Amino acid sequence: MKKTLYPKFILAYFIFGVFSFIIVTTFVPSMTRERLIREKAQDIYQEASLISGTYATGLYASEIDLETVKTQLDYLSVYLNSTIRIINPSGRLILDSDSPINVEEEIRIQKFDPTSTGGSYYMVNNFFDSFDQDVLTVLSPITYNYMVKGYVVIHCDMEQIEAFCNSLLNISYITLVILLLLSLIILIFFTEIVYIPLRKITYATEQYANGNMHYEFQVESNDEIGYLAACLNYMASQIAGAEDDQKKFVANVSHDFRSPLTSIRGYLEAMIDGTIPMESHHKYLNIVLNETERLAKLTNSLLTLNNLNTTGMLLDRTDFEINSVIRSTAASFEGTCRRKTIAIELVLTGTELYVYADMGKIQQVLYNLLDNAIKFSHHDSIIKVETSIKKSKLFISVKDTGIGIPKEALKLIWDRFYKSDLSRGRDKKGTGLGLSIVKEIINCHQEHINVISTEGEGSEFIFSLPLSQNMDEED
Ligand code: ADP
Repeated sequence: MKKTLYPKFILAYFIFGVFSFIIVTTFVPSMTRERLIREKAQDIYQEASLISGTYATGLYASEIDLETVKTQLDYLSVYLNSTIRIINPSGRLILDSDSPINVEEEIRIQKFDPTSTGGSYYMVNNFFDSFDQDVLTVLSPITYNYMVKGYVVIHCDMEQIEAFCNSLLNISYITLVILLLLSLIILIFFTEIVYIPLRKITYATEQYANGNMHYEFQVESNDEIGYLAACLNYMASQIAGAEDDQKKFVANVSHDFRSPLTSIRGYLEAMIDGTIPMESHHKYLNIVLNETERLAKLTNSLLTLNNLNTTGMLLDRTDFEINSVIRSTAASFEGTCRRKTIAIELVLTGTELYVYADMGKIQQVLYNLLDNAIKFSHHDSIIKVETSIKKSKLFISVKDTGIGIPKEALKLIWDRFYKSDLSRGRDKKGTGLGLSIVKEIINCHQEHINVISTEGEGSEFIFSLPLSQNMDEED
């Protein structure tokens, strides 16, 4: 059977209860008893010392008579609720607050040994068998002429101390029960705050481990457990999204590879079996060549995207002159532009402008944006590449007056393999990967790219780049 946290916590709680009970019923009573005896002993020892230094010494010095001392001791014994005795070192009882003076009959405490306290100023026993039960006894020597003449002995009934001790212990037992009941609140809190959410989380992880990444669960708390649950939910949704993307990606790639391959195969078969006559071979071989070019472009774009994803932030950043990069990229489209009688107008800031970025990748961005701008521009139009500086950033805009992008497609153009319906007729070679690559590169630079476009009027793509920090020195 699966071991759960709850019985363990209950067991811990039970052990806590048992230990608390043992401590309160063993250590606490003995400590309390000990403490009360010591305090009482201290009190009566002070009284005994006082008596031995006053009346008792007076008695031995024959300054005070036996009767007077007896009267005083009687009062004190009532006041202290104890028995006060004066005993000779030999054990003979001189005075006893509990019995009248009896000079005729000698009462002797057998085996009386004042040294038997063992260094302590009090003892708890039946005082050399002179009591039926245990009493608390203190002894204070009476010294006269530098000699110990006797002892003032005060006995206190242990029952009083025990009764007081028990009343105190009753309070601690009641407190213990209340505390144990109150600590049940911790158990309730633990169940609500930790155990139930943890069970939900465990169940969810089991679902995820079984591949059910779309399983959703709710933990309503703002603490670490709530955060953990939210993170887990988010992680699962991301993985689910990534899985869906992966499937979509593979489907798109397969589709985009299959259509040119099918047409190549179709044309080649038709040429071999003679459906396409010899004199038309040149025309159809050119179509086949175009299709292979499309396949090559697709493969290259996929490789670029893959590299961007795996290398992540690994960019080869340097300070380079952006104006010349823009000029040379624009120049590489000269042939295409001439065919479509399109002009590229460059409005560049300064003669030389340095930015800090990965030159090869930025060249690729410019290339993809210009390629799209030309592809989707009408004949005899102008494409404008403009740079401007705002807050230590360089903004590069590529603007055309072509077919524009429909509003509903504006968010989708960055998706892999997305091609708007408008573009399909114009751009048969398009892979729908160009802008994904652009976005990925700009994101890697931690910069931004935006598009402003109106269908039928044209589009403007603007992206930012960090200016070189050393620009002043290089200028
Ligand atoms: P492709 O290689 O097919 O051009 P892109 O990712 O570069 O793929 O572009 C995706 C889609 O965005 C294009 O099919 C097109 O519909 C739209 N698009 C991109 N640039 C422009 C532009 N300058 N003018 C109009 N539409 C554009």
